[in-house]
Amino acid sequence: MDHLSVHDRTTLASSLLKRGVVLSLLVLLLTVAPGFAQPPTFDGTSAFTFLYKQVEMGPRNPGSEGHKRALDSYREWFEQCGALVRRQSFTADVHTSPEGSSPKQEMRGTNLIAQFGKGRSADYLLCAHFDTRPWADEDPDPKRRMEPIPGANDGASGVAVLLEMARLFAEQPPPGRVDIVLFDLEDSGASGDNESYCLGSAYYAKNHYGPAPIGAVLLDMIGDAELEIPMEWFSWAYAPEWTKHVFDLAEEVEAGAFYPEVGDPVYDDHVPLLRAGIPTVDLIDFNYPHWHTHNDVPENCAPESLEQVGRVLVRLVYGE
Ligand SMILES: [Zn+2]
Repeated sequence: MDHLSVHDRTTLASSLLKRGVVLSLLVLLLTVAPGFAQPPTFDGTSAFTFLYKQVEMGPRNPGSEGHKRALDSYREWFEQCGALVRRQSFTADVHTSPEGSSPKQEMRGTNLIAQFGKGRSADYLLCAHFDTRPWADEDPDPKRRMEPIPGANDGASGVAVLLEMARLFAEQPPPGRVDIVLFDLEDSGASGDNESYCLGSAYYAKNHYGPAPIGAVLLDMIGDAELEIPMEWFSWAYAPEWTKHVFDLAEEVEAGAFYPEVGDPVYDDHVPLLRAGIPTVDLIDFNYPHWHTHNDVPENCAPESLEQVGRVLVRLVYGE
């Protein structure tokens, strides 16, 4: 390296100066405005591991060993992620067969509420049912219709996305407060008797005090490998602005599975929440050929589907 000419020295000095300015600006930004941190990235593969692990525990229908194990594991995970966790127990009369002809039986249910971030009340509720259907009443094989389903999509998929969100909340706390709520006793209803479904959310909604959140997002059957999410009818009719907001976010993050057209009404856990005055959108792909069959397995679900939904939730919670 030989000596520098005058010209070279000037360029070097000005470039050093520029770098210095840029560097001090960066330092200033990081110290003065920690909120400028990038939003975390949602990892569909990691979420899919949670889907898989739930199915491995066996069917999670109320009263089963899998149900108990799953509930314990959710609680443990949320606590590990720094949440304040609460079990909300209740009793309800539940059908003992899918056609609802046999007498009902009193059962105990448990919702799990995990509180992340700071605030007296939640800004957002993110929810899903964790119980699985005790009967495969849509299975092609009539001999197996009274056996419980694996519930990879119908049960595990929504919860999987929320368990992954909990990991992100642990790494980067949400700007406000976010409550994750896992509902029990969603899927023990009898056909033709809507009110016999969604018993955990009904209990939660009736016992929800204090200010309503800005909005709630319900996830149900969002793991389908061929995912298509329309604007579910009740969400669109009773929480139009909130529903549009969430679909706008989906467009921003290019979640192609979302399409902003009004779909069929689905009686789901969002109905009791809507009745209680909580704006709720149900993200659901009800067009799933393996619904309530023994083929509701991980092979019919995909990490990419979970990832699209997760990206929308990240945008909702953390903004741009
Ligand atoms: Zn179901």
